[in-house]
Amino acid sequence: MSESKIQAIRGMKDILPEEMVYWHFVEENFQKLVSSYGYQEIRTPLVESTSLFIRSIGAATDIVEKETYTFADRNGDSLTLRPEATAGTVRAGIEHSLFYNQIQRLWYGGAIFRHERPQKGRYRQFYQLGVEAFGMPGPDIDIELLLLTWRWWQQLGIAQELTLQLNTLGLASERLAYRQVLTDYLRAHYAQLDADSQRRLEKNPLRILDSKNPELQSLLAGAPSIYDQLGLDSRNHFEQICAALKQANIPYQINPKLVRGLDYYCHTVFEWVSASLGAQGTVCAGGRYDGLVEQLGGGAVPAVGFAMGIERLILLLQQYQQKTAKKPEIYIMSTSAKRQQALLLGEQIRTAFPQLEILTHCGAGNLKNQLRRADKLSAQIALILDEELSNSDQVVIKYLQRDLPQETVDATKVDKHLRQIFE
Ligand code: ATP
Ligand code: MG
Repeated sequence: MSESKIQAIRGMKDILPEEMVYWHFVEENFQKLVSSYGYQEIRTPLVESTSLFIRSIGAATDIVEKETYTFADRNGDSLTLRPEATAGTVRAGIEHSLFYNQIQRLWYGGAIFRHERPQKGRYRQFYQLGVEAFGMPGPDIDIELLLLTWRWWQQLGIAQELTLQLNTLGLASERLAYRQVLTDYLRAHYAQLDADSQRRLEKNPLRILDSKNPELQSLLAGAPSIYDQLGLDSRNHFEQICAALKQANIPYQINPKLVRGLDYYCHTVFEWVSASLGAQGTVCAGGRYDGLVEQLGGGAVPAVGFAMGIERLILLLQQYQQKTAKKPEIYIMSTSAKRQQALLLGEQIRTAFPQLEILTHCGAGNLKNQLRRADKLSAQIALILDEELSNSDQVVIKYLQRDLPQETVDATKVDKHLRQIFE
């Protein structure tokens, strides 16, 4: 009796080779793009102390309250699989003095874990690409990030799919004042709130603005606006961003209800949203978090960043671009007696042409079957080693994709022939 099959954990999906083509495309091009803006890569661990996320994201946020994978390790320390990468980046930057009197432009990519209800575009292990820029207080870097994301959508050919939603949360003090005004307003309408919002009222009232409950929308439409609480500097910061977007012809919508789910944001917050991914429409989200470095024990270092979900990005990309796996250029096949020579021929060609994909048929067998395999893989040419050939040091070059007669060449001259074919 066989044991029952072990399957992947719910919400954690395998990414098979067919789809990996898109991943490589996205990852390679993102790296090129952010490098062209001077960003350098940072890799931090997938696991951090639980306290890092409580202190940064906030204890009363959805992520920390409901979505983290938290466990005690064998020493009894409370650890958490990272539910986002900003906190770890800031921790690492403080730990290695990256922020001391320095501007840092950092990017990262990797797995993120959140215990959410799995559905299309929402997984329990998913991947983000993101950037974090430290040490620049003015709106210029916020603008540069938006220009970067806009360039990215254009490069991918999906700019028409995405809308930029923009808001400002002002300074921490202004946000606090707003929190009070908003709480007073919502408390006055307490009975109209749903249970979730009632629960949030004391702990995280701004998140109520984010509620998707249709019955709350008219109440929320009448809520006081954060803009009334903003001082001159905050208004100025926001207005400069809006003006730059207009000048760059980047369409955007100001969304006063965009508050983001994490506690550390201030001033600029933004999301790039698609209408074709249902409730999982946000592909990229970010904002400014000037207080976070200090909050985690570093200096007063202003910062701004964004994170992008790769799965959602690829769902969009697949609507516009068909990508297929690279096909091998060369398939080497041989009779049984020539198996070792076939492997060595493969080595010889890889040394001369490192960019080519060469598959050597392992296990020999019937040449006809081997040829069928090469055809199925859409290899461009087959190289056949067969001791029946008059001169046993010869190799047959067979064109599989072009209507050309096959050629028989000396093994020592194979490289020269391949140069004519592939260069
Ligand atoms: P949502 O509102 O969809 O839950 P979020 O505000 O929780 O998103 P962020 O914390 O801003 O998301 O994360 C940045 C990006 O990571 C999102 O815009 C999205 O593209 C992606 N993302 C977030 N959660 C998931 C998930 N569970 N599965 C796949 N991608 C996700
Ligand atoms: Mg979420």
